[in-house]
Amino acid sequence: MSKLDFIESELASLKEQGLLINIRTISSPQGPWFVADQKRVLNLCSNNYLGLANDDRLKAAARQALEKYGVGPGAVRTIAGTMTLHLEIERALADFKGAEDTIFLQSGFVANQAVIPALVGPDDVIFSDELNHASIIDGCRLSGAKIVRYAHNDAGSLEEAARAHVGRRRLVVTDGVFSMDGDIAPLPDIVEVAQRHDLITVVDDAHGEGVLGRGGRGIVDHFGLHGRFDVEIGTLSKAFGVVGGYAAGSASLVRWFKQRARPFLFSTGLSPADVAASIAAVRVLQASDELVKRLWDNASYFKAEMRRLGFDTGVSQTPITPVIIGDAVKASELSKRLFSEGVFAQSIGYPTVPRGKARIRVMISAAHSREDLDYGLEKFAKVGRELGVI
Ligand code: PMP
Repeated sequence: MSKLDFIESELASLKEQGLLINIRTISSPQGPWFVADQKRVLNLCSNNYLGLANDDRLKAAARQALEKYGVGPGAVRTIAGTMTLHLEIERALADFKGAEDTIFLQSGFVANQAVIPALVGPDDVIFSDELNHASIIDGCRLSGAKIVRYAHNDAGSLEEAARAHVGRRRLVVTDGVFSMDGDIAPLPDIVEVAQRHDLITVVDDAHGEGVLGRGGRGIVDHFGLHGRFDVEIGTLSKAFGVVGGYAAGSASLVRWFKQRARPFLFSTGLSPADVAASIAAVRVLQASDELVKRLWDNASYFKAEMRRLGFDTGVSQTPITPVIIGDAVKASELSKRLFSEGVFAQSIGYPTVPRGKARIRVMISAAHSREDLDYGLEKFAKVGRELGVI
């Protein structure tokens, strides 16, 4: 017996349960169609909501920055100085979100690790929605604060928890749009509870920006709650089509994060090309809401047609379209058969979603044409019938 034998037996067990993740290889740019495992397929699973990942304007900005500034930022921003581009993206995001300032970080995942431990520590309490994203959960754990989970999207449950748990400082954190179900957090109710109990408020808007609010300004804008949420976490990797993360809030909070957020202090910032492309993406959204409108038109059409076919698309209020199957082996089989029909729609099982809630998560984009969506619907109908799902 070797000390690492557990790995192969665990992998075999994952395979048996239909939970072994099959990572396909993409050899073309992101787009409504792309090449996965050397096959041209309809792309129904990327977070590239607005089709910006291969946009000419973003690519031109990245090329220019590459020529002007080179490929790497040199070192951690607090140690080797910050590039003008990093300051420019922070200003552009603050203007877009209607916040005083932002801190730009390496990813949305990292942003949660950066912000939460900078706000609370071992003497404090965090109230966390039970379905929060893994990056929020890990950020909470890193802080060392006591973590109290409240029932999903339930401000009453949050209120009860806030009454029961005292601490030096207290913070509530929630996803804005829940990434696996597409439902929206009741931010107005959460803000009210937070005000009554003096809780610091943090919302992760990863799936809200570029999607909700005026011209995709996100969930706080959607509910008209500007200035009433302390911190908005965001990502540049989804609707903005690039990579990176940030936290938006008051100038004072951002000054604090720049002194205390560990991924900012101990990890190098993103490359000039990434940052310049991100700035261009923010400008595209600032200039027009056309892509956001197209995204919603496409998503509404696809979701309604899937329901008409008899698929269970859950409780989604956003373009995220879960196709709930339940059994992980069946979900995985559905995904495989779709792929052989020319449609890439990944199955997702435990631990990303609860056991028994396996699904295919369809991500519609503004870049899909009506013919693309009809192609996907036809294949879902065919394979769904073959497998007895509808
Ligand atoms: N927060 C939420 C709610 C997310 O869905 C994701 C992406 N899966 C992230 C954070 C992480 O974002 P990134 O991919 O930029 O690290």
